[in-house]
Amino acid sequence: MGRYHDAVCRLCRREGMKLYLKGEKCYTDKCPVSKDTTPPGMHGPSRRKPSDFAVRLREKQRLRRFYGVFEAQFKRYVQDASRTKGVTGTQLLQILETRLDNLVYRLGLGASRKEARQLIVHGHVVVNNRRVTSPGYLAKAGATVAVAPGSRDLPKFKALAGQTPAHGMPAWLEFNAERLEGRVLTLPSREEIDAPVQEQLIVEYYSR
Ligand code: SF4
Repeated sequence: MGRYHDAVCRLCRREGMKLYLKGEKCYTDKCPVSKDTTPPGMHGPSRRKPSDFAVRLREKQRLRRFYGVFEAQFKRYVQDASRTKGVTGTQLLQILETRLDNLVYRLGLGASRKEARQLIVHGHVVVNNRRVTSPGYLAKAGATVAVAPGSRDLPKFKALAGQTPAHGMPAWLEFNAERLEGRVLTLPSREEIDAPVQEQLIVEYYSR
């Protein structure tokens, strides 16, 4: 299955919540979900109580869309999380948070995770001083994530000097706006991850 190319605000309406897929618009009054959370389509919300399966499926889709991850990759993350020590749901969220596209977005270098993926694929990002072009690269605690030296003079990055991203900077990351360089101080705890899901339901979805 390819990447989703339809209007992304439909995905937020489908999930009934903001998934922050569009960058700056998501933080303004122009966000359609701020005013209306009815699902897309002509029939409106279903009146039937959703089954247990439907609830778990919805939760999984919500998280997958929040981070912009394909189904096969997402399933691999769940498997990896279940093999790691600790609570599987929290491990899953930590894996997703340490994806490079998420870090570039959290540091404010990209307005959305989608834009962050483009910046990475186009070679504008270095991790520990080495160029990385895979958005799914998983960074470790202590890693530095920065704009590549040859890209620092691009207008997009020059405009970032001294700015804090609209979504704020998480406590587990630090960012030097002059050097356009961030660092993963530690892995985030569940309380520090704003993903709008009950991750246990997702683990249950894959345990069927
Ligand atoms: Fe669109 Fe962003 Fe609002 Fe979602 S959060 S509906 S992507 S503007």
